Parts: sequence; structure tokens; C-alpha cells
Amino acid sequence: MKCPKCDGSMVQGFIPDRAHTGSFLMRWHEGRPKQGFWNEMKCRWSRTLPIAAFRCEECGYLELYADPSFKPHQSSWNLTP
Ligand SMILES: [Zn+2]
Repeated sequence: MKCPKCDGSMVQGFIPDRAHTGSFLMRWHEGRPKQGFWNEMKCRWSRTLPIAAFRCEECGYLELYADPSFKPHQSSWNLTP
């Protein structure tokens, strides 16, 4: 994949969302956000897709794609500092 800005090469990555219980993968949700009573986002998990972020190695430009194929692989240990 080539960068649309500078024609550099793009590498696949993801944007971890850090929470108390670990890091989660950012997901795309269909529709406009709706807030609940505690200001949380009302979220239908079935309407979300995992997001992959491709980063240009030359200029740092990020391009986001939401697709079921970016679902994370299961691993037995998740050792993040
Ligand atoms: Zn670039």
C-alpha cells in the first residue's frame, strides 16, 4: 500500500485504547453516537468493526480502515507494560 500524501510505504498497525483492565482495540460504530445516563456511549457491539491504522513510514500519515478481517487474534498471554 502506498501513502496518498507522499507515495511512501504504509505499514499496518492499530490504535490501542487503554483502560483500567488492559488495552482494547478501537472499533468503528455505525450511526451517530448516543449518550446514556452516565455519559457512556450507547453501543451495540454487533454494529462495530475493528479498526486497522496504516501508517506511512515516510511522513507518518495515518489511514484508518474498519473491516471484520482486522479482528485481533487470540493469544494466551497479553503482556503489556
Ligand atoms: Zn506519506
